[in-house]
Amino acid sequence: MSVSALNLVLQICVAAIFCCEVIMSNPPASTSCFIKARNHLVENYSEETEGSWKGSYAFVFAADPQPGLINQVEQEGNGSNWDREIELMNEAVNAINELDPLPKFVFLGGDILNAFPGQQYRDEQYASVQASFSRTNKNIPIFVASGNHDVGNVPTNETRDIYNQEFGDEYYTFWVGGVFYIVIDSQYLFDDSLTPERSAAQETWFTSVLQKAKNSSCKHVVLFMHIPLFLDNVDEEDNYFSIKKADRVLLLNKFADAGIKTVFHGHYHRQAGGEWSRTNEDGTEHTIQVVVSSAIGCQLGNQQSGINIVKVTENNISHTYYPMSEIPQTISFD
Ligand SMILES: [Zn+2]
Repeated sequence: MSVSALNLVLQICVAAIFCCEVIMSNPPASTSCFIKARNHLVENYSEETEGSWKGSYAFVFAADPQPGLINQVEQEGNGSNWDREIELMNEAVNAINELDPLPKFVFLGGDILNAFPGQQYRDEQYASVQASFSRTNKNIPIFVASGNHDVGNVPTNETRDIYNQEFGDEYYTFWVGGVFYIVIDSQYLFDDSLTPERSAAQETWFTSVLQKAKNSSCKHVVLFMHIPLFLDNVDEEDNYFSIKKADRVLLLNKFADAGIKTVFHGHYHRQAGGEWSRTNEDGTEHTIQVVVSSAIGCQLGNQQSGINIVKVTENNISHTYYPMSEIPQTISFD
């Protein structure tokens, strides 16, 4: 073998080793800045690691970034442009990163995307949302709930599989600082006609989780679901934006039995919600706050795009919705 041929072989070997090293030292990067629940749980946010109360804290609840909807609603477009939503998501992230103290987590209450699973622009919108939210301080985990746009208005096994691939499990629990958080997929409650088995699985799981909450010594139990239990009052007629009238009181009683006092929703793109109360058998009152938050993205009412700062204290959970330009820097627990 000539010297030049030997050199060539050596170069090929070195290149091959280098390539192997590059591949082996760079496992595929996580493609999501959102926490993906697996087996309906979240690693590092279990009762074992986060089950004990360590003092007051804040988290951020926001809903419906839904890139493309402003183009459809305000510009009569086909949802192919979402520059405005990118600005709004970045504004929200900038404000979240400035909060003092930092929130323990951010929760996005569904309709993270506008294009339905498998539709045009879905992947591009997913990339935009990831690009914006990946700028969030790395100490702040971001949890998500599925909205109708994320799983489909009438979800199928295929659309649900796409969601699971992109965002992880659609129903799960997690713990932060002694508080038990439950996330359910409200589309199963709204239309499960094409996914009855999966819907039954969520229901079975949910029943056991509510029982666990009831027997738990946690400070609070909080529920997140995209579609509101009601917009204004529990007796309002059936409509596109809230859970069917026939199901509401049944669900609220189940939630009350488990000790849930606060439920966070999106979907309406307006500020709404209210309280529901019942008298327990022992004569005490149980009140559930139904929080319906307006959107990070497109507004369908008179509010401005914004986020909620939620304060969790030993005895209370309070929330305030702030338009982007009015988000305070300091969170006070006095
Ligand atoms: Zn929605």
